[in-house]
Amino acid sequence: MIFIKREFEAYLDELASITILLPTERHHGESTHFTLLFQEERHQLQIIERNQLADYVKYRCETKIPILIGSKYMVEDEHGRKTDLQIGAVIRTEAFDEAYYYDGEDLGTTYYPGETVFTLWAPTATAVKIKLNAPDSNELIYYSLIREEKGIWRITVQGDLEGFLYTYLVCVNLVWREAVDPYATAVTINSEAGVIISKEKINLPKIPLPPFRRPTDAIIYELHIRDFSSHPKSGMNQKGKYAAFSEQPAYSSEVGITGLPYIQELGVTHVELLPVNDYGGVDEAEPEKAYNWGYNPLLFNVPEGSYALDANDPYSRILELKQLITTFHQHELRVIIDVVYNHVYVREDSAFEKIVPGYYFRHDVHGMPSNGTGVGNDIASERKMVHKFILDSIKHWLTEYDVDGFRFDLMGILDIQTMNAIKSLVDTHKPGAILLGEGWELNTPLQTDRKAMIINAKKMPGIAFFNDMVRDSIKGSTFNLFDRGFSLGNTHKTQALKQSLSGSINFDPHFKGLFLEPTQSVNYVESHDNHTMWDKMALCVSHEDEKIRQSRQMLATSIILLAQGIPFLHAGQEFFRTKKGEENSYKSPDSVNWFDWERKQKYSNEVEYFKGLIQLRKSHGAFRFSTSLEIKKHLTFPIEKGHLLMCRLNDVKSYGKWNQLLVIFHNGLQTETVALPNDSEWDVLVYEAKVSFNAVQKVKKEIMVGPISTVVLGQY
Ligand code: CA
Repeated sequence: MIFIKREFEAYLDELASITILLPTERHHGESTHFTLLFQEERHQLQIIERNQLADYVKYRCETKIPILIGSKYMVEDEHGRKTDLQIGAVIRTEAFDEAYYYDGEDLGTTYYPGETVFTLWAPTATAVKIKLNAPDSNELIYYSLIREEKGIWRITVQGDLEGFLYTYLVCVNLVWREAVDPYATAVTINSEAGVIISKEKINLPKIPLPPFRRPTDAIIYELHIRDFSSHPKSGMNQKGKYAAFSEQPAYSSEVGITGLPYIQELGVTHVELLPVNDYGGVDEAEPEKAYNWGYNPLLFNVPEGSYALDANDPYSRILELKQLITTFHQHELRVIIDVVYNHVYVREDSAFEKIVPGYYFRHDVHGMPSNGTGVGNDIASERKMVHKFILDSIKHWLTEYDVDGFRFDLMGILDIQTMNAIKSLVDTHKPGAILLGEGWELNTPLQTDRKAMIINAKKMPGIAFFNDMVRDSIKGSTFNLFDRGFSLGNTHKTQALKQSLSGSINFDPHFKGLFLEPTQSVNYVESHDNHTMWDKMALCVSHEDEKIRQSRQMLATSIILLAQGIPFLHAGQEFFRTKKGEENSYKSPDSVNWFDWERKQKYSNEVEYFKGLIQLRKSHGAFRFSTSLEIKKHLTFPIEKGHLLMCRLNDVKSYGKWNQLLVIFHNGLQTETVALPNDSEWDVLVYEAKVSFNAVQKVKKEIMVGPISTVVLGQY
C-alpha cells in the first residue's frame, strides 16, 4: 500500500457533494472558499456546512458542475493549496449505482486464436493497464486500456495469447494497485495471475440427467473433497484430489467398499461439496502442510488448486473438477456446490477492493467495513454490479461445470432480490437445480426486510433453508452443549418435533410455520459446522454408554430421513463421525477431518440401517410431499405422550405401495406397548434398527416398541 502525502483531503461523497478536511495546524483550518479545478476550468464550490473537529475543520460543499467519475479534478483552498479530489462515499450511493451499472456479458476475457479482448469494470479508476506475461518467459508487456461508457475499460490484444498470464494495474485516488481479474476463469498456482485459456480445451462432454423433479426427492450428503480420500485406508490413490472421485477402489475386508461406489451404494441423490472455488489458507504448492474447509474465497470462478493433480497447469484443476462432476452424473448422482458470496478472505487484498475500492463491501454508519459475517467483511450483494457478479458467477458454474445446485454460505448476508434473481436464472438454465442456504440473521447493514434469512423465507419461494429448529428439536441446541433434543431423551421437545416432521409449514392453527412449502426446509442434525452429534453426545449424555448413544444418533437420523422436507446428512453421520471433540475443525489436520473408512466398516450394520431408511424414503412418496397442501391432507399425529410420538400418513395409496403408514419415534429407555389405529394387519417395515421390505413381519392391534428406536408400519 502506498500512502500519498496530501496537504489536505477532499472526497466526493455524493455526485454533487464534496467533503473537505482542512488540518488546523496551518491557517487554523480556515478557508473562506474552495475552487474545483478541472482541466483549464475553475468552478467555485458552495460551502453548505462547516464543523470544527479536533485536528481539522470539516467542510461540506456542493458543486454545480456534474462530476465525471474517472476524470482528474483538483480542489484549491483560499490560500492556494491544492489537493486531488478523491472518490469517497459516492461509491455507495444509489446515484452512482444507477450511473455506472453495466449489463454487458463480456466482463473478463474473450479469447480467439487471433486476438483476446480484455474487459474490466473500474469506474473510479483514472487509468488502467494490463500486464501480460508470455508463458515460460520473463518478459512483461504492458498496455493501457481505453475507457468506455459505464466505467468499462477495454483493450483488444492481437496475437494468440493462450497460456499468457495477466493482471490489471488500476489507478484510483492516485494509488496504483495490481489485481487479478475477478472474472478470471483460470489462474496460476496460488492465483497470483489470471491465465488466458482456450475454451475448446476445457470442453468435456456433459452427461445430461433429466431435470430433478422435486427438491423433497433429494437426499443431500455433505462432503469435503479432501476429507473423502485423505484417510490412509481410503483405497484411493489420488488422496485429497478431485481425481480420487473417479477411482474405483478395490474392495477390502478391512474397510469394505470405499470411494464413489460407497456413495452410490448409500442411495443419496445429491452430494454437496464444501467450497471448490479458489480459496486461501492452503499453499497450492504444498497442500499437505495445511488444511482448510475452504471458506476463504479468493476467486469465485476458478476451481481450487490444492485439489488438482498439477496446480501449476491452469487446465488441470478445471478439467479434473469437470471430470468429477461428469463421473457423478454417469452414476446418476447430482452435485451441489457450496458458494461463499458473503465475504472474501482478506478485503484489502481482494480483487474487488483493489479494482473498485469501497464498492463491493458494506460499510457501517461510521464508514467502516461492516462485519456481520464474523470474518471481517460483508459483500454488498444489493449493489448492482455485485448482484451482477454473483449472477454471472452462478451462470458460469451452471453452464460451464454443469452443477446441479448451490448451497449459499451465510445466505442471511445476501439480499432477497439477489436470491430471487438467482432462482429465476437457475430455473432457466437448469430446471430442478436445488438452492439452499444458511438463512441466519446476521448483523449487517441491510434492512431486515431485505435480508435472505429464514424469517423472510416466505418472500423466497423455491429457496430452501437450513432449518435450525429441526436441528435443535431433534439433537438439542448447537450452542448450548447441554441442551438435549427429542432424540437425546427430552420429552419437552415434542411440539417442535411435530413442526419439524411436518416440514415447518403452517400445519394447523397451532403451528405458525416458517415456510410456504416443505421444499424450503432443509432438515438436518449435523453439518461440517460445530460438534458432530457424536461429539456433542460425548459431552451432554456422557453418563450413557456407547450403545445407547448409537441408538440416539440412529433415532435422530431416522427422524431426518422420515420427516417432510429435504433431508441433509453430514458425511459420516451414518457411522457416528467424530472429530475427536473438536467444535470447529476448519483448519485442523486431516486426522481430525478425514472420512474414517475404518470406522465406516466397524459400524457396517448401522450403515446398513441408514441405507435401508434411504430406500424406504425413496420407495414411498408420502415421506416426501412437495406441497403443504398434501402434508395437511395426509399427516396426523395420533399419539404423543411422554417418550412417544406417532405420525400417521393416511390415504396415501397414490404415492406408493402402502395406503397407510405409521411412524413411531421413541426416545425412552423402557419398552413400550403401543396400540395401533385399526384392526387390520400392518407390515413391519422398520423395527429394531432394521429395515425390511420383503417377507415382512405382520402385526395387528398393538406393537412393542423397544428403547430408543423407530418403528415404521405400512398397511395396504
Ligand atoms: Ca487456492
